[in-house]
Amino acid sequence: MKLESYWLDTAPAFSGGRDHPPEGHYDVAIIGGGFTGLAAARTLAREGARVALLEAGRVVGEASGRNGGQCNTGVAQDYAAMVDQLGRERAARHYRSYSDAVASVEQLIEEEEIACDYLRRGKLKLAAKPEHYDKLARTYEAIRRDVDPDVAMLSQAEARREVDSPLFHGALWQKNGGQMHVGRFGAGLADAAVRHGAHLFEHTPMTGVEREGERYRLTTPGSEFHADNVLLATGASQVGPLNWFRRRLAPVGSFIVVTEPLASEQCQQMIPNQRACVTSRIVGHYFRLTPDNRLLFGGRARFAMSGSQSDAKSGEILRRGLRETFPQLSATQLDYCWGGLVDMSRDRLPHAGRHDGMYYVMGFSGHGVQMSVHMGRMMAEMMLGHRRDTPWQSEEWPAIPGHFGKPWFLPLVGGWYRLQDRLR
Ligand SMILES: Cc1cc2nc3c(=O)[nH]c(=O)nc-3n(C[C@H](O)[C@H](O)[C@H](O)COP(=O)(O)OP(=O)(O)OC[C@H]3O[C@@H](n4cnc5c(N)ncnc54)[C@H](O)[C@@H]3O)c2cc1C
Repeated sequence: MKLESYWLDTAPAFSGGRDHPPEGHYDVAIIGGGFTGLAAARTLAREGARVALLEAGRVVGEASGRNGGQCNTGVAQDYAAMVDQLGRERAARHYRSYSDAVASVEQLIEEEEIACDYLRRGKLKLAAKPEHYDKLARTYEAIRRDVDPDVAMLSQAEARREVDSPLFHGALWQKNGGQMHVGRFGAGLADAAVRHGAHLFEHTPMTGVEREGERYRLTTPGSEFHADNVLLATGASQVGPLNWFRRRLAPVGSFIVVTEPLASEQCQQMIPNQRACVTSRIVGHYFRLTPDNRLLFGGRARFAMSGSQSDAKSGEILRRGLRETFPQLSATQLDYCWGGLVDMSRDRLPHAGRHDGMYYVMGFSGHGVQMSVHMGRMMAEMMLGHRRDTPWQSEEWPAIPGHFGKPWFLPLVGGWYRLQDRLR
């Protein structure tokens, strides 16, 4: 079993990075070469801005190249609960912005002709307990009423025809959304940014940034350069002088296993319409088929950071979950296992704004394949003066109380979530 991302292992590696360190002056320095930073770089460079993008590792080497590949509509939280919490108007606005984000990704794939196996098959949220079906039905009513008349509720028998597992009691089907090969999408997006003129520097962490009058001086281990504006698109960053942001985000591990290739008849039997699936538990699972007929199966597994030992431990937990969900795969080998860090904000919503004059957007909270691309573009449009606002502009973004260094509270949060899953 390979302890690496299936997506990165099966995509062409990006080779358009600069072979010398950044120097001189740029209009914009973007820190972070995930979907957010790359989408911003592409938009800015297309408009003629001189862009330097610094990536500490390889482009899309973190969350963007390590996720479940689901590009779905709808907020990460339960929509009906969000209406109760924020009111109908705000909740509807949040929901619609995810639909806009899906459209943004689809438009970008088309404009740049990125071959990334995009499939528009929607998402099933599967009820893991009978009571969850009733909760999903309430969510269905609220979504249909406010934001999407095309959403559907599936009975237990209908859900079983979509997902051949004994575990589920029905499902909510949100049709507007897709899935893609995020490694191929990421490489295509990076190529597009370079084609439009952006300079991408891989293995170049930003280690310092200082304001000098109207511009910024940025340092990397071997160089320094200047930029008029800075965009921080650093996700759950563990590198560089970003403590202000680290206090506002919990880096939560999420883990994935991928099986060996399955017979196409078996895939046809298991998930015939190739929907992207998530389960209704708080510490639940997400799964889908890959373009080469494997099952990708992920979940939070353990409330721990990602790393090769931690990923392997989580992989064992996921193996049990996969066998429970699909007993027909109990003899199937796992070919891949990896993990990644989710940039979880306290309200589980993205945050965008300016800090010390620098633009930032992060906090996608595990639901950012679509939104990171959309927000990267919007932040670029804001920097170009083409828009004044984005859906996630934060006037204030308080730190997570007590969060100064390592996220010591994660095991406690994990324990609390597991208890909730048992009780409800
Ligand atoms: C296991 C997993 C499964 C997921 N599944 C899904 C899913 O199915 N659907 C969905 O919608 N979302 C999913 N997500 C979330 C989604 O992947 C992210 O929200 C999205 O990719 C965020 O993109 P980003 O560009 O903001 O961050 P990232 O992709 O994390 O990119 C940030 C980049 O910044 C770089 N960086 C940080 N600090 C510095 C520095 N000082 N200098 C230079 N570079 C720096 C990092 O190296 C990194 O490459 C998942 C996430 C994980 C981890």
